[in-house]
Amino acid sequence: MAAAKKNQPVELLNDLEPMLTRLKLTAIRDQLDTLLDQAGRAELNLREALTMLCTAEVARKDERRIQMGMSIAKFPCVRTLEGFEYDAQPSVDPKQIRELATSRWVANGDSVLLLGPPGVGKTHLAVALGREAIVRGYSTLFVPATSLVTQLARAHAEGRLEEKLLHFTKPKLLVVDELGYLPFEANAAHLFFQLVSRRYERGSMLVTSNRSVAEWGGVFGDAVVATAILDRLLHHSHVITIRGDSYRLRTRAALARLTRPARTPQLKPIDQQPGSLLDVARGSVPDVA
Ligand code: ADP
Ligand code: MG
Repeated sequence: MAAAKKNQPVELLNDLEPMLTRLKLTAIRDQLDTLLDQAGRAELNLREALTMLCTAEVARKDERRIQMGMSIAKFPCVRTLEGFEYDAQPSVDPKQIRELATSRWVANGDSVLLLGPPGVGKTHLAVALGREAIVRGYSTLFVPATSLVTQLARAHAEGRLEEKLLHFTKPKLLVVDELGYLPFEANAAHLFFQLVSRRYERGSMLVTSNRSVAEWGGVFGDAVVATAILDRLLHHSHVITIRGDSYRLRTRAALARLTRPARTPQLKPIDQQPGSLLDVARGSVPDVA
């Protein structure tokens, strides 16, 4: 009996790992010795130790959830708000972006329109805000506008429109990037309108465009459809218009400045070189422009 009692803690310990696996508490299982060591060294009581173990598990689950959400979102690149330089784009209000980063607009089903010329950071902010939404637990899908309308048109032609509309209606946040780079065909404009109507007051949309809303009639090739789309998008919306220079060109210009070789005079035949001994001999003033 005494021997059995003495063995009990060992048996319990042996049971622990399979139980943690069964309960899917994999972070606790994988770091068990380290976590128990830490709890022992910090002289935590049982409740504190349990809290520490759960914190590790919750952190792992959050990390996995975010990773999964990011891969489902199909972002074209990794961009974060931390990586956005506000100094480079003074027309972007950091306070407004910080507010949007809370994802309250996603919770409320509002829209965000990011407008401005190419290279000013619209896609960067769209991806970064999408990422913030995922971190806060909102399902997100990113799709370039041209791909969206191509997919809708194909589904329409194949009699699967309903299914496709559902696919793009399901995520809590749909990011539609680069609307307006190519004008829509009449049919595509109607399909996009159907999607916007479906999502209206159900889920959020973030749309980036290089066209001002006044030009959307031209983008959709139909002023009536454009108005109907804008009517829904602009109701409960946050419109950010970015003005300024392309970040791409800005960095390219800076790079060019850095890498430009020091100005060296073009080598001309010796008798044509300004300031050459021949000029001195001719008594002319060297041209140093
Ligand atoms: P847009 O979508 O407006 O055409 P992008 O978001 O694609 O522009 O920006 C072009 C490139 O410049 C991207 O690599 C982006 O990360 C970067 N970029 C743009 N603006 C900024 C900024 N203010 N801070 C840091 N990177 C920026
Ligand atoms: Mg872009």
